[in-house]
Amino acid sequence: MLSKGEHQTVPLSVLLKRELASEKIERPELSHGQASQSKKGEDFTLLKTECQRVLGDGVTTYSVFGLFDGHNGSAAAIYSKENLLNNVLGAIPADLNRDEWVAALPRALVAGFVKTDKDFQERAQTSGTTVTFVIIEGWVVTVASVGDSRCVLESAEGGIHYLSADHRLDTNEEERERITSSGGEVGRLNTGGGTEIGPLRCWPGGLCLSRSIGDMDVGEFIVPVPYVKQVKLSSAGGRLILSSDGVWDAVSAEVAFDCCRGMPPDAAASQIVKEALQVKGLRDDTTCIVVDITPQEKPMPAPIPPKKQGKGVFKSMFRKKSPESSSQVEKEEFIEPDVVEELFEEGSASLAERLDSKYPVCNMFKLFMCAVCQVEIKPGEGISVHAGSKNTKKLRPWDGPFLCSSCQDKKEAMEGKRPSGDGRYSSGSD
Ligand SMILES: [Zn+2]
Repeated sequence: MLSKGEHQTVPLSVLLKRELASEKIERPELSHGQASQSKKGEDFTLLKTECQRVLGDGVTTYSVFGLFDGHNGSAAAIYSKENLLNNVLGAIPADLNRDEWVAALPRALVAGFVKTDKDFQERAQTSGTTVTFVIIEGWVVTVASVGDSRCVLESAEGGIHYLSADHRLDTNEEERERITSSGGEVGRLNTGGGTEIGPLRCWPGGLCLSRSIGDMDVGEFIVPVPYVKQVKLSSAGGRLILSSDGVWDAVSAEVAFDCCRGMPPDAAASQIVKEALQVKGLRDDTTCIVVDITPQEKPMPAPIPPKKQGKGVFKSMFRKKSPESSSQVEKEEFIEPDVVEELFEEGSASLAERLDSKYPVCNMFKLFMCAVCQVEIKPGEGISVHAGSKNTKKLRPWDGPFLCSSCQDKKEAMEGKRPSGDGRYSSGSD
């Protein structure tokens, strides 16, 4: 019945269709929404989708979502919203392919956070901010955070993953130790007569957080070095929730995901804020961003290869949601039941550790550029990030990466190696 010509075109169109399908599985579709209830007007968000990056052989896109919960004013939050992304991008060498670019992100985020903090402090404005900063490239989600706003992921497989650290003195013993060993003091507010109230704070300054951007009037051991976590989702995707402490003080991650299940991101964000307010009332700025990372579209139902059956059953056993999910499982059977893969995790506050070259990327650091602020350093003027390090077994002071003298000063201050703060005490608000 078919002519010869048709015989020849069929395989080709099938091939193209397959290529198209795999392309679509390769890059997810993002949709996002946000909601906010303001009390002090110090929460700010950055939502930037489809940022373009030119590669050797074309253009690729990535998306950025940021949440900035300011304190003692909003200048630091606004400044970070406006400058952090550029400072991060400025720390990534040009001409990297996609994998190299993704691998360079953790260190570029550290450099970008420190530069933003340093630049903001030079403007001599008070105020500080938490930052939860998410960069999504394909299925790879990279989160950098300082402070106590959180980013949580629920994978399509049902697992909940915490992608940010909690830099709150009350809950983070490691950070309390770091601060006291850098010369700070940690204690509760003393109302006089020996009565101590409220959360643990760090003095001088009285901040409840151990890391932030800004806060020039508190000890310099309140550092801007972010905790960074990078994960790769399965091609089934997942949902991200970024929220300020106004949400997390009221509801758990499980409650947040459960209360908005099945809703589109905008409605989900509103529902999470509503849920938080129902529990605690409006005590603080309460902001929520929801990002759905999903396969572009369901490819045509394909016959299920028999070898995947076992895995499919295994997957549905661990599936959390039961009510409407049985048909969903059948629909998703063609998707590889792989799970969230951890690519990178590091939370150390030490620049020498964070700017080290453990992570194998080519030419991450340009020899005569400051690894933090990217200014050009004249030969002989750069100071190795390992200078003064106790761990001299493998590291020599002439090993890069290098810092300019100004960033070296900043590094020493963060490590408590020079007297920090100017003796002023801030209002102690958080
Ligand atoms: Zn520098």
